[in-house]
Amino acid sequence: MIDPFGRPIRYLRLSVTDRCDLRCLYCMAEDPDFLPKDEILSLEELERLAQSFIDLGVRKIRLTGGEPLVRRGIMSLVRALGLKLASKELDELTLTTNGTQLAKYAQGLADAGMRRINVSLDSLNPDTFRQLTRLGRLDQVLAGLDAAKRAGLAVKINMVALKDRNELEIDQMLAWCGDQGFDLCLIETMPLGDIDGDRTEQYLPLDRVRKRLESRWTLRPSDYATGGPARYVTVAETGGRLGFITPLTHGFCESCNRVRVTCTGKLYLCLGQEDSLDLRHVLRHTEGPDAVRNAIASAIARKPKGHDFIIDRNQPKLARHMNVTGG
Ligand code: SAM
Repeated sequence: MIDPFGRPIRYLRLSVTDRCDLRCLYCMAEDPDFLPKDEILSLEELERLAQSFIDLGVRKIRLTGGEPLVRRGIMSLVRALGLKLASKELDELTLTTNGTQLAKYAQGLADAGMRRINVSLDSLNPDTFRQLTRLGRLDQVLAGLDAAKRAGLAVKINMVALKDRNELEIDQMLAWCGDQGFDLCLIETMPLGDIDGDRTEQYLPLDRVRKRLESRWTLRPSDYATGGPARYVTVAETGGRLGFITPLTHGFCESCNRVRVTCTGKLYLCLGQEDSLDLRHVLRHTEGPDAVRNAIASAIARKPKGHDFIIDRNQPKLARHMNVTGG
């Protein structure tokens, strides 16, 4: 699949649920309305959909959500997709998780063929972690990270940088990740969905963070790339990698190779645009894989050049939350 701007589409981010056991301040409202079950794709439908994307040339799948590991039966999907690694239909199967369920699942993920996972962790301070996630217990996530290490999974920590909230903890996170052997990726808040609060109060431009980090750490340019939007440096003092995802200060669209499917089967061609295609309808009302493949291919022909996020006071750029689109 090649989009109208010549970008090959090889990466699918597949959301398996809109539900989450945390309520991160910048991501969700405190009391969100979750979708009714019949709107959510079954595990079999998710697998069929994944197969159609693989048939069309996707080589990397990331499961996300909501929290993918709270979806009942998720490991059967992980194992089914893991078989596509063994048969060389996929190069990579991975996951973005908040880590709360990792103690239970890390070994199973590794056994299914996963090699790397992203774990979202915005603070190492139990009280700040609790405040940011509204529900979370830091010790549970740290136990999950230990299990991931024991299972041999490479871990990248994703930390959303939030003004005043965790801004002063970034140094500590960088040092800790170095000690643990984890990469760290800092993310700017994106204006997705109404949250209970004002986003301009949370937004922290990463060029400012980077300048401050450079006064303490030696950040060396790196050409490491994962096919995602992060730009990496190597931290000389720890040997670890530090990534920056900066949708607001610098666009990351020119090398975009990915599309997203929500847990209801909506194909979004861009995280920051509304255009979507209802693949659930195609899955549920047609026989055989051709109709799904054709629908996907025709949508790719409309993939936009990029997003145009602007942080605007109390005005989300897009109505849908990150837990709906899939992070
Ligand atoms: N539950 C999983 C997790 O916590 O990683 C996967 C889904 S979560 C929506 C994926 C990522 O999106 C997390 O790292 C989260 O911090 C990030 N995220 C959510 N809302 C965001 C926003 N408005 N701006 C930037 N990142 C956001």
